[in-house]
Amino acid sequence: MIRDCDVVVVGLGGFGAAALFHLAARGLSIVGVEAHGIPHDQGSSTGETRVIRKAYFEDARYVPLLQRAYALWAELADVVDASLCGPLFQRAGCLTFGPPGHTAVVGVQAAAREHALAHEVLDEHAIAKRFPALKPNPGDVGVFEAEAGFLHVERCTTAHVDGARRRGAVILCPARVTALRPGPEHVDVDVDEGTTLRARSVVLAAGPWLAADPVLRAFAGATPLVVERQVQLWFEPAVRASCAVPALPCFIHFGARGTFYAIPGREDDGALKACRHHGGTLTTPANVDRRVSAADVDDVRTFLRAHLPVADGEPLRSKVCLYTNTPDENFLVGPSPSSSRVIVVGGCSGHGYKMASVLGEIAADLVVDGGSPFDLGLFDPHRFGPAASR
Ligand SMILES: Cc1cc2nc3c(=O)[nH]c(=O)nc-3n(C[C@H](O)[C@H](O)[C@H](O)COP(=O)(O)OP(=O)(O)OC[C@H]3O[C@@H](n4cnc5c(N)ncnc54)[C@H](O)[C@@H]3O)c2cc1C
Repeated sequence: MIRDCDVVVVGLGGFGAAALFHLAARGLSIVGVEAHGIPHDQGSSTGETRVIRKAYFEDARYVPLLQRAYALWAELADVVDASLCGPLFQRAGCLTFGPPGHTAVVGVQAAAREHALAHEVLDEHAIAKRFPALKPNPGDVGVFEAEAGFLHVERCTTAHVDGARRRGAVILCPARVTALRPGPEHVDVDVDEGTTLRARSVVLAAGPWLAADPVLRAFAGATPLVVERQVQLWFEPAVRASCAVPALPCFIHFGARGTFYAIPGREDDGALKACRHHGGTLTTPANVDRRVSAADVDDVRTFLRAHLPVADGEPLRSKVCLYTNTPDENFLVGPSPSSSRVIVVGGCSGHGYKMASVLGEIAADLVVDGGSPFDLGLFDPHRFGPAASR
């Protein structure tokens, strides 16, 4: 059976859900296809919370996107029934700290200054005084951004999909895309239930499957994407209030053992989330080891013992998640090197969820207007070389 529509969104995780929402708002006929569930825990948008901040040490060029992302998350919160699902965003602040010359510590200040973002620079003594549970290393410098906080990731994804459905989007779930065949006038999208969707455009937001699924991988061009296993752990602090807002902000620490971050206890649960950033094994969504080992736990507890000892206890729960990394850790957003009718949104290298709202809007702009008000040069899917011919 062939079914016509304007746009198919492949994958309704963080980015696909946002794209579906913004496309549905343009009055187009939209079909979203999701293989696993809304939400689900097999991909990259699982684990309760995601840090959101504006003073971006990764690159100050992200700041305009982050400013728009904040506005769009607030608009989404206005159309969601918070009494049913709870808030989407919790303001908590975020402290980025480490050696004063570290590129991230320097970068966060540079981004804040360039875009006149409110921030405070704290030395090790000021950090310990302001946040008594935290133990910085001697000489550490911190940059505190009060506007930062965390998003409730599964709530946000569900809110985007529910909003899109109310605006007329059709959702096929569970249903898997098995082939994408772009032509000059349209793209045929085969779905495993025996349907072919014929669309003018496709938004491909398949997360780690963009790297691992050979059918989808072809649309990422020459980008050498890799999937990295990441472990999320939640701990019961000895004193809950000391690891909850406002006593503890989100924080990211750069130290000799690598980068670790933590997110304070949610309003309905005092558990502290703590994780290593990067440093995981390369894997695929099908083969990843979803069990959390004693070594995974010890790694994070060693960090907590040194820097947040009040939270050093047996973990309450854990969840394995996946990063999809590009070589330069910047996203892939734009027309596929294989077909301008396929808009790729992925490769978010472990830092993309906070921008899901604006990336969804950008995907809709690229489909409807053929361009974006944002400079997307940083994210060009062609930047790693020409596509394999199709
Ligand atoms: C542990 C961890 C911590 C993170 N922390 C932060 C943070 O603090 N702040 C931040 O901004 N970002 C963070 N990130 C990054 C962020 O979560 C990801 O960039 C984002 O969730 C990626 O979303 P996605 O839509 O690309 O992928 P996913 O959410 O995995 O969505 C892809 C979807 O495509 C579907 N799919 C795949 N193949 C098919 C197919 N053939 N047919 C139909 N559907 C298909 C999948 O089922 C899936 O639902 C973190 C990531 C991890 C793993």
